[in-house]
Parts: sequence; C-alpha cells; structure tokens
Amino acid sequence: MGSFDLNHSLKPNSDNLENLLDPEEFRRQGHMIIDFIADYYKTIEKYPVLTQVKPGYLRKRLPKSAQYNPEPIETILHDVQDHIIPGLTHWQSPSHFAFFPSSGSIAGFLGEMLATGFNVVGFNWMSSPVASELESIVMDWLGEMLKLPESFLFSGGGGGVLHGTTCEAVLCTLVAARDQMLSKIGRENIGKLVVYASDQTHCAIKKAAQIAGIEPKNFRVITTSRSTSFSLPPDLLRSTIRSDIEAGLFPSFVCATMGTTSTTAVDPLPSICDVAKDYGMWVHVDAAYTGSCCICPEFRHFIDGVEGANSFSFNAHKWFFTTLDCCCLWLKDPSALIKSLSTNPEYLRNKATDSKQVVNYKDWQIALSRRFRALKLWLVLRSYGVEKLRDTLRRHVEMAKTFERLIAADKRFEIVHPRYFGLVCFRISPTAIIDHKPKNKPIQNVGAYNDDRDDQKCINEINHKLLESINASGSMYITHAVVDKIFLLRFAVGATLTEESHIFMAWKVVKQHAEDILKDV
Ligand SMILES: *Cc1c(COP(=O)(O)O)cnc(C)c1O
Repeated sequence: MGSFDLNHSLKPNSDNLENLLDPEEFRRQGHMIIDFIADYYKTIEKYPVLTQVKPGYLRKRLPKSAQYNPEPIETILHDVQDHIIPGLTHWQSPSHFAFFPSSGSIAGFLGEMLATGFNVVGFNWMSSPVASELESIVMDWLGEMLKLPESFLFSGGGGGVLHGTTCEAVLCTLVAARDQMLSKIGRENIGKLVVYASDQTHCAIKKAAQIAGIEPKNFRVITTSRSTSFSLPPDLLRSTIRSDIEAGLFPSFVCATMGTTSTTAVDPLPSICDVAKDYGMWVHVDAAYTGSCCICPEFRHFIDGVEGANSFSFNAHKWFFTTLDCCCLWLKDPSALIKSLSTNPEYLRNKATDSKQVVNYKDWQIALSRRFRALKLWLVLRSYGVEKLRDTLRRHVEMAKTFERLIAADKRFEIVHPRYFGLVCFRISPTAIIDHKPKNKPIQNVGAYNDDRDDQKCINEINHKLLESINASGSMYITHAVVDKIFLLRFAVGATLTEESHIFMAWKVVKQHAEDILKDV
C-alpha cells in the first residue's frame, strides 16, 4: 500500500486525542443523527421510491481514498444528504409496495439503538446473561402470541432463538435434520439424503441444501399448479418419497411454506406432516412473511397443524415492525440443533455452562458472536402490545383488500392469485390486450404477435412494460413474479407509514400507466 507518514501520525493533534467514545460528544452527535432521521421521515415522500441512480454513481462522487484527518459530523451528514440518500430505495416510504415489507417502527429503531449502544457480544450466558435470558423470554412470549404448541416453547421442552435471517435459520435446521438422520443410517450415507420442497419454496432451502452437502440431484422440487393455488400437493410428495425409497435413498427433510414469496401460497401443513411422519422426516415451516399475522386469531388457522412440524420460523424484520435482522426460529427439540452446532473450546468454559442451567445461544447458530437482538423485539412487544400489533396488521390487510377491490372492479385487470394476507397479485388481463388487438399486427416495442404462444408472451411483455413504467415514475415501487409462465405484478401492503390515501394514489398510478400502455397496443 501507499506510504505511511510516520512523522505525521506522531504530531500532537487535539482532534486525534479526543476519546472516540466521549459521552458528551456522543450526546451531541447522537441528537443530530436522530434529528436527521426524523427529518428524513418527515420528507420521505419527496424522494422517488425506487432510486434513479445508475450503477457506479457513487465512485464518481466520493474521493479515491479515505481521508487522513478527522472530519466533523456536520460535513459527513451533508454528504449523507447529497450522496447517500439519492442511492437509497426508500423501503420505509408509504408507497413502497415491492417484495415484502420491511416495516420499521420507533420501538424497533430505538431497540436496535440500545442494543448497538451496549454493544455486548452474547455468545454464551456468561458473556452477557441478560442477552440470553431476555431472548428466551421474548421467544416464549412470542410463541405464546402465535399459539405455537407448548412443545415449541422453553416451558414445554422446546425453545426459540433469534437468527439474522431465514436463510441462516433454515440452514441450521437442515443441518440438525441431516445429522439426526445420519446418526441412524451412518454418516457414509450423506449422498443418499433427500430434501423436498415445492417449485414455490424460497431459494433459501436450496441454498441450505447446497451448503449442507445434500447431493444436488437429491434436492426434489415438487411441481405446483395454478389450479391448486400453487400449494404443495401432498399426494405427489408421498409418491415422490416412495420412489426415492425404492431407489435406496433416505428422505430426510421437507419444507412447508406458509405464504410463498411469489404469491403467498399456503402449503397444506397437516397433510405434509402426516406424510413426513410416515417416513420419519423433519418438517420445517417457513412463515417468513405471514408468521406475524398469525398473532391475529382470524389468521391463526393458516398454521394449523404446526404441532406436527419440527421447527417453525418467521421474520420479525418483515411485517412485525422490528428492524432487520431478526428471524424468529422455534424448535421442538433444540438438542438436535445443539448436537450439530456446538463446540466447546477451553477459553469459553465456565461454571454456568457446566451447571447445564443456562442457554448458550452460540450452539444454536452458525456464528460464535451474536448481537443482542432480543432487545429490539422486547421494545416492540412492550411499546405496542398485542392489541395494537394486531390492529396494525389488520389495517394493512384491509388496505390490501381495498386495492384488490379496485383492481377487480376494472375489467382491464385481473387478480391472478387469491389474496390471503397483504399481497395482491394482479396483471392487465389477457382479454384487455387480445380483444383490442388485430391478429398479425406487431405491437409497438413488444414485437411480433401471431399465435397463441405469442399471445402469452405478448401479455407478459405488456405487463412487464407496465411494471417498468410505474417504477420509473418514482411515485411508487412494486415488483413482479412469474408463476406457471404468468408474469404478475405484486402489490404488497405493509410499510408502516402507508395510509388509505396511498392505496388510492397507487391505484390511480397503475390505471394511468396501464391506459397509456394499452393505447399503444
Ligand atoms: C423473505 C423470505 C425468505 C428469506 O428471508 P431472509 O430473512 O432474507 O433469509 C424465506 N422464505 C420466505 C417465504 C420469504 O418470504
């Protein structure tokens, strides 16, 4: 690397001698940052929801190397305003309807700030007892709110842990399931383990199987269809398992999804658990997005049958007002996880661990070090209480219903998949396109249009154009999915600042852009 100026670094400089954690300076700068964020929220609607910067924009604006001398926070905040904010996609905007929500809240932000402020590293009980104890307590509280069976709670012999993301939670769970099966059939048979998912299952499961050493050819993808609303067909699961067994393989793990990422399809949990039970398989329930709304009695039925599963996870950082990252994972038999993930180096030995009366969460996850995530969840639960949390989730679902009604009432549009939660899947309807389109006439910017296969392609391309045109406007942000060769638009309600007026505004934007596009057809 470049030359290091030794003389310079030895020069007495009062700035350099200032304590990096001076409490009064922290107070001053901290208040400025809070004010800055509050102002950001006050004015968030003036920014295009989807950023309009081009790749590499930032390198052109920032210096080539890090500066040598300290800079005041005032200067840095100016640059945040001028150079960082333009590159943000505003997930907290009330008109962010893309992907699934990443709902923020005052309690979530401040809980995060407290945890970061303490900056403890709670790998085992000793390293910060409250971090482990609070985590076990809030996981039991939350499990009770979801009416998870007692067997998933610490009080019933199970237990919960906070991971960063579903990807990590699923990997750890799959590793536990793998090792449990291998302990019965012998480790040399790892190449014969089979993992099952549907074609709608999140790619997190496939990634977990790749990392866990499952043979790629033993990752089974069960096909779903539009006629059964993209839920995993249990008969097909059973027949696939049977043929795998006949081929000398060992079925070990199946993932059931409550609310798939493309359309919020719901897998038939009780039937899947019945099948898995017959073959001694592990069932994981991935409720990443929908898990939170199961705190409302009217949505709880979506996870009926969870008592037959081995593990259950949902992301509090999606639709539960807790900042990223915060994935809640419960297991009926945490000892299976601990067996796979524990290590016991001398330097971590202590009396509390030896007494076997404490939870050492390092043995429930991939990393050794861990953040004090329970604090933000605790703040969210306490600041809002069950009732307000339920009401807020219900308000989001009502707003999604409003959008769904507006779409359904206009013949030019089509609801592609039933709405169960806060996600509406729609598109410009095929009839709106085909009926107004003489055969054999190329569509402007879309191309030739001759037979039925071209019809499908053309319908998809027009809907793709609609998506891009809406997002380029900056007034709102939505994303898409392709299921059964259908390109659909996803409208996910769940940003904390969204009000009914934003839903009507969004409908106006969708309608206007669709009209403009249909004019060209
Ligand atoms: C979002 C999502 C995931 C991935 O969650 P991460 O926390 O980003 O790993 C997994 N499964 C489903 C169903 C999801 O919607």
